[in-house]
Amino acid sequence: MHHFHAQNGQLCAEDVPLEDIAREVGTPVYIYSTATLTRHYRVFADALAGASVPHLICYAMKANSNQAVVSLLGNLGAGMDVVSGGELMRALSAGVPAHKVVFAGVGKTDAELAEGIDAGILCFNAESESELAALSAVAVQKGTRAPVSLRVNPDVESGTHAKIATGAKETKFGVPASRAREIYARAAQMPGLKVVGVDMHIGSQITALEPFDAAFNVLGDLLDALRSDGHPIEHVDVGGGLGVPYDDAVADPPRPEEYAAVVARHSNRFGCQVLVEPGRMIAANAGILLTRVVHRKEGDGKTFLVVDAAMNDLIRPTLYDAHHEIRPVRPAGGPSEIVDVVGPVCETGDYLALSRPLAPQDRGDLLAIMTAGAYGAVQSGTYNTRALVPEVLVSGSEWAVVRPPMLPAEQIKRERVPDFVKAVGQDMARS
Ligand SMILES: *Cc1c(COP(=O)(O)O)cnc(C)c1O
Repeated sequence: MHHFHAQNGQLCAEDVPLEDIAREVGTPVYIYSTATLTRHYRVFADALAGASVPHLICYAMKANSNQAVVSLLGNLGAGMDVVSGGELMRALSAGVPAHKVVFAGVGKTDAELAEGIDAGILCFNAESESELAALSAVAVQKGTRAPVSLRVNPDVESGTHAKIATGAKETKFGVPASRAREIYARAAQMPGLKVVGVDMHIGSQITALEPFDAAFNVLGDLLDALRSDGHPIEHVDVGGGLGVPYDDAVADPPRPEEYAAVVARHSNRFGCQVLVEPGRMIAANAGILLTRVVHRKEGDGKTFLVVDAAMNDLIRPTLYDAHHEIRPVRPAGGPSEIVDVVGPVCETGDYLALSRPLAPQDRGDLLAIMTAGAYGAVQSGTYNTRALVPEVLVSGSEWAVVRPPMLPAEQIKRERVPDFVKAVGQDMARS
């Protein structure tokens, strides 16, 4: 469900023609829909509330951490799941209360742990014994106890792409569920820790409910054991991971309401507040990447559409073999042809779609790369000294640039040529 549809023969974001944005901001540009972000958050929150699950939705900011998006979700009542000191800073500066922030990640530094303690966050989701010890030490130094959950790894197969599966025992994330009791016992003895919960996250773009169901069963068993060991568990954090539809030819993953029903089914047994950390489910199809065809190139038995967006703007096709639907902004006539949609970056891996049937497109035509609102702009860079891609947020017929492009001149200005480089060759005539 999203709000990018044709009106009067051309594709719009809510009520704004994409051509208007392209004309004023240029391309490539990310465009997000306020109505879609709001709807996804509400559908999920309402489903949990409707099932009387005491809950807090901590939006996984790494999916899309633009300040406008974080502010919007914060204003709707969301907490945040942050994975770095930088994201913590973003959450706080968007006005999200620290007591709604959880902090995940395998490599939190002492400085980041201190930032979380100083802010007064809800919980650290610790991923190792080393981190527990470090957190305790930092907290003791500050004369306090840090609230902590241990991320346990239920060892379930989530059936997702290897680069985003986190719940099997071979990944770097969490500690094995089988070792959790022993580690909790040690954590409870550490002077700077206050054990408050249990945490898990089994992966991303999970398109079936069974892996969640299996993982929540492991979590329920563990909760029983931890409670009988005397740990006061105030919340369980079940992570994120629900998949979204990327490919019109593949059956849709379960809807947020259905996933919420699985959480609800386990919540009685959990017997405490449930934290959920959806990222992709909220942001993915709330965004598109708008790009323009620069050249049409007839290769050897192959047609290439060279567009002005590239892997530095959207790396998902290259990194995860991801499929993104591509829609012409002006539906063209004629039978579709099979094309590779590629960017201008000097890498063979720089493509947005391979062997894709598409209505004939020509120089100057606009294409919308769909379902690009999550893990898109956040992974963008400036490779090949390209502009850092701009972002726009639409609401009804209003829209605003929420990140202007970082242009090459600005990138160059940030760099320095030291004197020892300037001195090189100065004794020779420079020709
Ligand atoms: C990435 C991540 C999420 C969000 O995953 P989605 O698939 O985007 O829902 C939630 N929790 C943790 C710990 C994560 O690393």
